[in-house]
Amino acid sequence: MVEVFSEGFKQTKEQINKSKNSTAEELNYLIDEIPENCALVSITMRIPGEIKNNRYISRTFNVIVDKFMKFYSVVKEVRWDVSTGPEAFLIVEKDPGFLKQETIKYESEEPLGTLVDINVYAVEDNSVSQITRKELGLEPRKCLVCDKHANDCKRDHNHSVEEMRETIAKIINENITF
Ligand SMILES: [Zn+2]
Repeated sequence: MVEVFSEGFKQTKEQINKSKNSTAEELNYLIDEIPENCALVSITMRIPGEIKNNRYISRTFNVIVDKFMKFYSVVKEVRWDVSTGPEAFLIVEKDPGFLKQETIKYESEEPLGTLVDINVYAVEDNSVSQITRKELGLEPRKCLVCDKHANDCKRDHNHSVEEMRETIAKIINENITF
């Protein structure tokens, strides 16, 4: 058993927003490198609160990304291990719509899948567009803690950061060896 949230640098809202800009820039940068019929994927951890990364979170993330890469033909891989949270960008040889369906299955059925956001983008006319659950006629993502929709729980502040961290730490300890 490790204390997953016992270390790490606290991030401010400003730092987190900055990292979102960096993510958007990286996605745009990668557009030129995407061959036909490939999908662009970004993977991040679903971690609430001010601590977004440390050695436990980073290791968990790498296990998840390594596993993901075993299932697909990956043309390009970029990984960031940064204090605002680990991120991976992958160019995958697969139809983006099909890939999104598979990642949704992984996000909802696998314990480690519940800890990550796997965003899938299609590239059209030199811009990226995210494939959404809504487009595929699927329900919004479920909350980490309960059975409601994640966005509803976030909006209504249904769970404390502490409660969410406990759920995350339990899943990590049950699935990763340190
Ligand atoms: Zn909930």
